[in-house]
Amino acid sequence: MIVEIVTTGTELLLGQIVNSNAAYLAAKLNEFGFDVLYQTTVGDNRERMQEVLLHALRRADIVITSGGLGPTQGDITREVTAKICNRELQLHQPSLERIKEIFARRMVAMPESNVRQAMIPEGAVVVNNDKGTAPGVILEIDGKMIVNLPGPPSELKSMFQHSVLPYLQKHFGLQGTIISRVLHTYGISESVLEEQIKDFILSQSNPTLALLVRQGGEIIIRLTAKGESAEAAKLLIAGLEEKLRQRIGEFIFGVDGQSMELVVGQSLSAKRLKISFAESCTGGLVSSRMTDVAGSSDYLLGSIVCYDNSIKISQVGVPAEILAAHGAVSYQTAEAMASGIRNTFKSDIGVGITGIAGPGGGSADKPVGLVFVAIDGPLGLKHYQLNFSGQRTYIKDRTAKTTLNLVRQYVGELS
Ligand code: ATP
Ligand code: MG
Repeated sequence: MIVEIVTTGTELLLGQIVNSNAAYLAAKLNEFGFDVLYQTTVGDNRERMQEVLLHALRRADIVITSGGLGPTQGDITREVTAKICNRELQLHQPSLERIKEIFARRMVAMPESNVRQAMIPEGAVVVNNDKGTAPGVILEIDGKMIVNLPGPPSELKSMFQHSVLPYLQKHFGLQGTIISRVLHTYGISESVLEEQIKDFILSQSNPTLALLVRQGGEIIIRLTAKGESAEAAKLLIAGLEEKLRQRIGEFIFGVDGQSMELVVGQSLSAKRLKISFAESCTGGLVSSRMTDVAGSSDYLLGSIVCYDNSIKISQVGVPAEILAAHGAVSYQTAEAMASGIRNTFKSDIGVGITGIAGPGGGSADKPVGLVFVAIDGPLGLKHYQLNFSGQRTYIKDRTAKTTLNLVRQYVGELS
C-alpha cells in the first residue's frame, strides 16, 4: 500500500519546528510494511493544501495528514479534506461532549470556536483523542483513505498507534514488514565500491541496496528488505549481505551505526590485547577516539603525544640516529615510535603515527598530507604510507580514522 504523509503548518515551512511527526509516521508505517513513497509539507493555506491533498490522493492509497485540527481559523485541514471528498461537515455529538468535558475538568468555559473541532465529515470514522481536544478522522473515498491527525506529537502518536494503525491493518490487511541494515565501509571510494558491486545494484529488487557517502571517508551500504515477518526480511538481508561480504568484506568494518573505534575496541577486547599509541601529527586524536568508547580502559593502556623530536627520543625511545638519518616524518621513525611505545608501556600492540598535517612544513619529497603509521605487535612490525590532501583538521581526522582501520585489520589477522 502506497502512503503519502502530508504534514501541514506554516511553522514547518518556516523551519520553526522540526517535522518529527513525519519521521514518526514514516518509521512506524515502514515498520508495518506500508510503503511511504511521498512526504509533503504544506502551509495553512486552503488552495495549496487542497492541491496537495488532491495530488496525494491520485498517487497514494492512503494519505495521512498531521496538524490543523485546532479550533482556530488557521486550522483548516478538516474543512479542506471534507471539501475535496465532497462531504459535508456535521456535528459529531459525542466528540463535542468529550471536548466539553475536557473544559469542564479544567474548570473553564469552552470557547465557541472549539465546536469546530467536533465537526466531522459525513461518513467518517472518528478517531478518539485521549490526550487533547481534536478528534481525528478516517475517511474512505473511492477505495482510498485519508486520515487526519492533530499536530501535537503526543496526540498524534497515541492516536496513530492505538487507533489508526490497527484500522489500516484491518482494512488493508497485514503488510509484512520492512527492515534495513547498514554496512559501514572504509578505505574504498564510492566509485570503486559501486564498480565492485554493480551487478547487485543493477539487479536489486528485494532487498534494495543504496550507497550513501558519510563524512570522513566512510561509505555506507543500506540494505532494505520487505518480508512477511521481521524474520523473513532479515533472512533476505542476510543472503545479500553474505554475497557482499564475499566481494568487499575487507572494507566492511561495522554494521548499524557501529563506529570504527567501537569495533576496534571490541576486537582488542575479544583477543585480550592491550594497545598504546605514540601520536605526533594527530596530537592525541586517535587516543581520544578510542576513549570515546565506554570500557576502553580494558584495552587502551595509554598514549604519548610526542610532538617534538626531543620527546620522541626521551619519552618514546626513538633513536636519535633514526630521526637524524630519515627525519621525523618517515616510516623508520613511525616504526621506532610503534616499537618504542610498545616497549615503554609493555603493551601487546604499539602504534606510531607521524606526518605533516600542514598547511606549512611540506616539501617536494614530503608534501603536506604525507603520513606514516606503524604497528608493532604479535604479527611483527608493519608500516603504512598514507597520502591525504585538504585542511589540517581534515588530514588529522582521516589519519585518525585510517589508523584505527589499520589497527582493526592488524588485529583481525591475529588468531
Ligand atoms: P492545535 O489544536 O494544538 O492547534 P493542530 O492539530 O491544529 O493542533 P497544529 O496547529 O498544526 O496542530 O500544530 C500544533 C502544534 O503541534 C505545533 O505548534 C507544534 O508544536 C506541533 N506540531 C505540529 N506539526 C508538527 C510536526 N509535523 N512535527 C512536530 N510537531 C508538530
Ligand atoms: Mg492548530
